[in-house]
Amino acid sequence: MINYDRSKIIRMSGVEPESIVDGPGFRYAAFVQGCKHNCPGCHNPQTHDFKGGYDVTVGEVFDDIVRNPHIKGVTFSGGEPFEQTEALLELAKGVKEQGLNLMCYSGYTYEELKDRKDSSTDALLDLTDILVDGKFVEALKNLELAYRGSENQRVIDMNKTRAEGDIVLYKSGFGVEL
Ligand code: SF4
Repeated sequence: MINYDRSKIIRMSGVEPESIVDGPGFRYAAFVQGCKHNCPGCHNPQTHDFKGGYDVTVGEVFDDIVRNPHIKGVTFSGGEPFEQTEALLELAKGVKEQGLNLMCYSGYTYEELKDRKDSSTDALLDLTDILVDGKFVEALKNLELAYRGSENQRVIDMNKTRAEGDIVLYKSGFGVEL
């Protein structure tokens, strides 16, 4: 049974259908188009323009994901995924129904996202297993960090954060230890 809206449009920059660097395990990474943060030193400046990229439906991306039975998780990166929460929420619902884990990147902090008090933002956060938050700060760049580019960014274990009511950083899970 399909419990998500396949017709919503995602503005996409590109996808990496078989990634081992965008989160734990073998994943499908979706890089959305459009970002307002303008972090100096950003590695993906081509994703900033909201008029760039291309349109895809939630259903098209979902079908592309489930085509590969070896995929264990999905990552929403960008660009800024939290500028497209309504469409990505629908894709997240489909992804979670498939038993896949979900990792989301955002240039906003967790606190900034919660302060929005926006239903689709909250719902997307509720379906997220791992959130990597905060802008990329060039002065704090560290190439040794897993899944993030600068020291200020956090890899948040959202399942433990929900259970404990306070931010818990991701240490291990989905077959990977940081
Ligand atoms: S949030 Fe990410 S995509 Fe946006 S400017 Fe910063 S590093 Fe680049």
